[in-house]
Amino acid sequence: MRTLIRNVRVFDGVLTVPRTEVLIEDDRLAAYDGGRADLEIDGAGATLLPGLIDAHTHTFDGDLAQALRFGVTTELDMFCLPGNLARQRRLAAERDDVADLRSSGILATAPGGHPSQIMEATSGQDFGDAVGAFDTVADAGQAKAFVEARLAEGADYLKIVIDSGHVAGLDLPVLAPDVVAALVEAGHAAGLMAIAHAVTTEDAVVALDAGVDGLAHLVTDPLPEEVAARIAAQDVFVVSTLTYFEAVTGDPSGAELVRDERIGSLLPAQARAALDRDPSVVPVHPDGVRNAVQAAAALHGAGVALLAGTDANPWAPLHGASMHREVLLLTEAGLSPAEALAAATSVPARRFGLADRGRIAPGFRADLLLVEGDPTTDITATRAIREIWRRGVRQAR
Ligand SMILES: [Zn+2]
Repeated sequence: MRTLIRNVRVFDGVLTVPRTEVLIEDDRLAAYDGGRADLEIDGAGATLLPGLIDAHTHTFDGDLAQALRFGVTTELDMFCLPGNLARQRRLAAERDDVADLRSSGILATAPGGHPSQIMEATSGQDFGDAVGAFDTVADAGQAKAFVEARLAEGADYLKIVIDSGHVAGLDLPVLAPDVVAALVEAGHAAGLMAIAHAVTTEDAVVALDAGVDGLAHLVTDPLPEEVAARIAAQDVFVVSTLTYFEAVTGDPSGAELVRDERIGSLLPAQARAALDRDPSVVPVHPDGVRNAVQAAAALHGAGVALLAGTDANPWAPLHGASMHREVLLLTEAGLSPAEALAAATSVPARRFGLADRGRIAPGFRADLLLVEGDPTTDITATRAIREIWRRGVRQAR
């Protein structure tokens, strides 16, 4: 099957070409040889983008399908229990109407540590084998065995939680710095990147001391300049999750997304209701959104790689849909629209070693998003979705 998209503006993951043609040959992009195509699409007035990569999700049944409906072709899950993970991976491998998936599997946290309090607060809801008891790490001596168990489950990277909840008045058990360091060392020895959940500067510094590769959130307290400089010097990437901070601090601005007809009309009713979640169990600074946007601006100025990620979960943010607000918020932190699009495509692909995606070029996987208008000048144009391809398969709209 050969599909030719003509007369189209292309944002290739890094650069914009005002008018060109792109050839999809089966599941890959190919150089156009001038030959016949089975299907031709006129891309006049539209922009072709690499499929979006959400660099922070928690993936449950139905989420990979919803993600793809909004142009997210890959989810990078940051905590998934084994039974659920095996099921989601099977879906992603066997079907072409769901997003692809990478995952940390079970995250490393102290016994009773974050996110145990959320799982307790939601234990009345039926998530089947997706939530329940999970391995924790009590001391540095358990680090190696914990990492080996994750490797055996097929983890793609290691996720480590450093969160005492103090910033929001909670007092949760937290991994000691020496345990964090032992986990990072064991992860690296096993060939896994180490990515830390930290939402305060104090906890982020523990992660930096331990030598992590990435931070799964921006911090939600004021970020000192010297810490931003240190994140840059250590070449640590940072996942934004600004829509998550909006959701858990009850910030009303996020409702803009569902009022936007281009998004709202495609959302199931229960997804809209999910935005009404009670945020009280999540330990985030009350000024979290404002502080995190300022942190994003400082980190961008310092040359740190920012990755667009929503922290989509069963409530809010929403799988797929919320990425279209995440990239908007990145522009409010000072990224250009093209930089925000790169943060949702080529940058996460490079940082997570996904060498087959995140770009539009011959040989890359045909994960594509065709939108009306020009998101390199108006970032909200990502919401005007005309076509989506996943591994070369055109999605029904
Ligand atoms: Zn998360």
